[in-house]
Amino acid sequence: RTKINEKGAFAFYNLDYDIDLQRKLRLNTDLNFALDKNELSLVFQPIFDKNKVLCGAEALLRWEHSELGFISPDDFIPIAEDGGQILHIGDWVIDAACEVLREWQEMGHSALSMSVNISYRQLADCALVDVTRRSLNKHGLKGDNLILELTERVFADDLALVRENMRMLSELGVKTAIDDFGIAYSSLSYLRSVNFNILKIDRSFVKDIVDDHEARNLCHAIHSMAKSLSLQVTAEGIETEAHFNALIEMNVDKFQGYHLAKPLTKSDFSKLLS
Ligand code: C2E
Ligand code: MG
Ligand code: MG
Ligand code: MG
Repeated sequence: RTKINEKGAFAFYNLDYDIDLQRKLRLNTDLNFALDKNELSLVFQPIFDKNKVLCGAEALLRWEHSELGFISPDDFIPIAEDGGQILHIGDWVIDAACEVLREWQEMGHSALSMSVNISYRQLADCALVDVTRRSLNKHGLKGDNLILELTERVFADDLALVRENMRMLSELGVKTAIDDFGIAYSSLSYLRSVNFNILKIDRSFVKDIVDDHEARNLCHAIHSMAKSLSLQVTAEGIETEAHFNALIEMNVDKFQGYHLAKPLTKSDFSKLLS
């Protein structure tokens, strides 16, 4: 500390930066062992239709670090993308999600869909389609109930490769969603050039729709644009009944948010089903 005081504010900044960097390096190393140590798991956030009937779930990755405790995917996914571990971990997520989807089908819930988040790194890697096909076959599934969620980040990569992967996925019957639409690399022309099935409105657009006219208009515009491209629309971050009602009025198709249901463990999700 004395040393920091001698150096002044700039050193404070450096110290924060060092701690942040050290944590990242630690997480980067530990991500190599997280799967083998059984520290990774999936939770499932229910997704509902207009009548609040359960119609699917989004699989969300959780990391319970043996020493550091719970680490948010918003923290570790970017590190796993930089370090490359996301490829191996992402394969595991697809397979684990398919296994659960199969269990739900065996319980008689054959209409439920399973959404899986896919990193841009996975799509840029030619193995994604093979890995998806293999997991579907392994669990005796058709692609129809599987939705892969991609973010706008994919638009920054080789678009021809992205389109080719999307084409092969659609041949498997797998649906694709553009996730967190509007917060990053959005470009309407990109959206038109890649064939998605679903657009997910990010919760940052939903947050203020009840009180703020402009926020509501923006959400409405995103919805209209999606409909003009024949996309189904799912809204994220429904935290109140008023959010839900405003989105119903806009004719949004599907709904996800803490007001409706939080992410659940597999066994809690099964209880919800029965
Ligand atoms: P996402 O795909 O947009 O997932 C939705 C996130 O919003 C989840 O956070 C979910 O718990 C949270 N959420 C849902 N409803 C509400 C709500 O009403 N209010 C608020 N405040 N939040 C809500 P989570 O689980 O922390 O995941 C964060 C992000 O991490 C995900 O955003 C996704 O981009 C990424 N992620 C999670 N699992 C995976 C994975 O298996 N692979 C990859 N590549 N990324 C993942
Ligand atoms: Mg998602
Ligand atoms: Mg999202
Ligand atoms: Mg998000």
